[in-house]
Amino acid sequence: MSVLFSDKLRFLDTTLRDGEQTPGVSLNPEQKFEVASRLSDIGIDAIEAGSAAASDGEREAIRRIADAGLNTEICTFSRALHLDIDYAADCNADSIHLVVPVSDLHIAKKMRKTRDEVVAMALDAVRYAKDRGLIVELSGEDASRADQQFLCDLFTRGVEHGADRLCFCDTVGLLTPEKVAEFVPPLAKIAPLSIHCHDDLGFALANTLAALKAGASCTHVTVNGLGERAGNTPFEEVVMALEVLYGYRTRIQKEKIYPLASLVSRHTGVPLAVNKAIVGEMAFTHESGIHAHGIIREPTTYESVKPEMVGRKRRIVLGKHSGTASVEAALQEMAYKADDKQVKEIVKRVKQLGDEGKRVTDADLMAVADAVLAIECKPVIKMRQFTATSGSNMIPTASVTLVVNGQEMTGAATGDGPVDAAMAVLRKCVSDVADIRLEEYHVDAISGGTDALVEVTVRLSKDGKIITSRGARTDIIMASVEAMIAGMNRLLRDRT
Ligand code: MN
Repeated sequence: MSVLFSDKLRFLDTTLRDGEQTPGVSLNPEQKFEVASRLSDIGIDAIEAGSAAASDGEREAIRRIADAGLNTEICTFSRALHLDIDYAADCNADSIHLVVPVSDLHIAKKMRKTRDEVVAMALDAVRYAKDRGLIVELSGEDASRADQQFLCDLFTRGVEHGADRLCFCDTVGLLTPEKVAEFVPPLAKIAPLSIHCHDDLGFALANTLAALKAGASCTHVTVNGLGERAGNTPFEEVVMALEVLYGYRTRIQKEKIYPLASLVSRHTGVPLAVNKAIVGEMAFTHESGIHAHGIIREPTTYESVKPEMVGRKRRIVLGKHSGTASVEAALQEMAYKADDKQVKEIVKRVKQLGDEGKRVTDADLMAVADAVLAIECKPVIKMRQFTATSGSNMIPTASVTLVVNGQEMTGAATGDGPVDAAMAVLRKCVSDVADIRLEEYHVDAISGGTDALVEVTVRLSKDGKIITSRGARTDIIMASVEAMIAGMNRLLRDRT
């Protein structure tokens, strides 16, 4: 166990409150419940499930989460108002995150009150919440800009009135690790202290770790760093920083981090930045020749975290930076046998594709390898006809006739749109031969305008084998069909 930190660090996740305050994000009660269950399952100590005062739907969601018997403390945001506290208690929450503005700026400009009035409100709210049987985490909003002596006195009196825990909120992301080292120790002596940071200047993780080192025993986090403006301290980053950089063993089930990140991204509609630490698409993807070469020999040469630790897989993609080692590794994985001269030629052609600005898919590499090795690729699937219809007051439908292994198959399927219907009917027609799943679907318009060339990339899997392939047409539906058929042919081809 690390000597730097309290041996019982707690995580309070506020994805469902501060995270949901991300502009444009709103989860329905069903989605909130699913996220809460997964947070509990991964090992979060407390979940701030929402603001009970916000709406009927919010209260329904909080009550459902609180009544589910999760092995996690359920908390709700509350202002220093009896009304908010009543809502929290009526939702069966275990605790409240009782937020009181503490900087003179917030007290005077936002609240239009005096320090004494705010203190009186805070103490009254603490007492009232304790009467209603709630655990109280008394939280100083905009604490970074507060008179620290005033904050210390307020927290001391709050604890005297029954507050169980305290929280230092860096509401607009103005802390530095140096300020944390000065502000946190006296406050952490009063009662167990949480730290709540925002990432406006990219300091949330550094400030959080500094606060934990300075005596705070709980960190507020959000999955994927969602939250107001630039967001809160990302859960996945604190966990992995503690574990990898400080040797601190959390109780978090780390291999569930990526599935949770994906779920939250899906439900909130906020995509993961491709270069986001730990959970971004590129976090464990390598292209450059030198790096990929190192990774293939020994992953720790260019990786600080093992992808499997957080539920992910390493990916080596091919492009103009690819070297012989990554191309050889990819060929080996696809069971091609090529001599040095052939590999050299394949690398050259892969780089050419990269130079044209293309992402080199598995199907591209196979086509190049087939050409260089002069292997004739007999397609398993051929398409005879394809129709897709869409419009208003009708159900998008696609029909297709394929020849699979010499046998003609005709089918039809409906979908959420013509592309969805097309994907469905293609999978349906080959389902007798193989269970092919569509793992990912991605569209790029190459140039502007409605006549632009559309490039569709799909990731398909069959029995754990994954392949990417591409179609490029001015017709998005046909580009999708082309990508699917190319990928399915590659997956179904018997190479052994
Ligand atoms: Mn906040």
